Amino acid sequence: MDVAPLIHKLADTHSLSLDEYEALIVNRSEASAKLLRNLAVRERVRIYGRTVYVRGLIEVSNICRNDCLYCGIRRSNPNCERYRLTPEEILSCADEGYTLGFRTFVLQGGEDSYFNDDVLGSVVREIKSRHPDCAVTLSMGERSRESYAYLRECGADRYLLRHETADETHYTQLHPREMSYAHRMNCLHELRELGYAVGCGFMVGSPFQTAKHIAQDLKFIETFRPEMCGIGPFIPHKDTPFKDYPAGTLELTCYLLSIIRLIHPSVLLPATTALGTIDPMGREKGIMSGANVVMPNLSPVNVRKKYELYDNKICTGEESAQCRECLNSRMKAIGYEIVTCRGDVIREAV
Ligand code: SAM
Repeated sequence: MDVAPLIHKLADTHSLSLDEYEALIVNRSEASAKLLRNLAVRERVRIYGRTVYVRGLIEVSNICRNDCLYCGIRRSNPNCERYRLTPEEILSCADEGYTLGFRTFVLQGGEDSYFNDDVLGSVVREIKSRHPDCAVTLSMGERSRESYAYLRECGADRYLLRHETADETHYTQLHPREMSYAHRMNCLHELRELGYAVGCGFMVGSPFQTAKHIAQDLKFIETFRPEMCGIGPFIPHKDTPFKDYPAGTLELTCYLLSIIRLIHPSVLLPATTALGTIDPMGREKGIMSGANVVMPNLSPVNVRKKYELYDNKICTGEESAQCRECLNSRMKAIGYEIVTCRGDVIREAV
């Protein structure tokens, strides 16, 4: 089946039916990937030029009460050496990041009860008071509406919470029984209502994932209209129940990045570390498929290796300044430029 007409329809209307999304995936070819990529890059250049937004990722804790079957920091992994940064350590990572030109900090971690509202709220307040021109993004998992509201009052601007899969049955195959699809989705809606810029997303090639599931993910992204969307390949971790499942591919991840750019031309779309892990040029290829964000690591080097969500994660040995420099030159080499600004979503008239 020639999917070119579907691709042009998507570029013109930013919407396809579930069946059409599925057909676009099942019948993909090198030619369809190229067409999608060209149209996606045209859109990202129209809105964001050849700039790449940069976010400083601070991995605050690998202690997690959850037991997601795919994740290396799941609570029942006895081989995970646990750590948690102190508020002072987080603040000094942000200070260093500021000097290096970062204007967005992403605080990400396992669901660690130490980071209650008091602790996390005061860290957010302090970053915002030291660096009022910066955005703070949280990626700290599922919390109560009250907690999200309080953290927003403290100054948090954005929240990343991947939906992981938009199919309820698939969700139950990836998570233990105590976690629920309904709760995850409800969190995303609450975050939106509270005025956060919200990011959802999913792993490409996660165990049991089918083209139908991905079509549902794309439909969810189309209707939810997230400001950010994090997708990256699933990569197995040796100490998880999914250790023998194959990793997602660069090819499908890039294909989906292009589709998502066409669904929401202004979406903030990272070329993830996971993409850079499965291919040495993965992040560059992500950018050349329509992504416009990179998230180098600002965590202290002595904990980097411990935040191992999947095997062989890259950039665990370098200092923050080295990571920043490395990405600068990687982006330059492909004709793009990392910029120093908050990098908010550019809203278009619809
Ligand atoms: N606890 C927070 C949460 O649940 O959103 C943030 C941390 S969580 C580790 C961040 C993301 O890592 C998850 O949303 C998941 O998609 C991704 N992740 C976890 N294990 C992975 C794996 N094996 N391969 C690729 N991505 C993975």
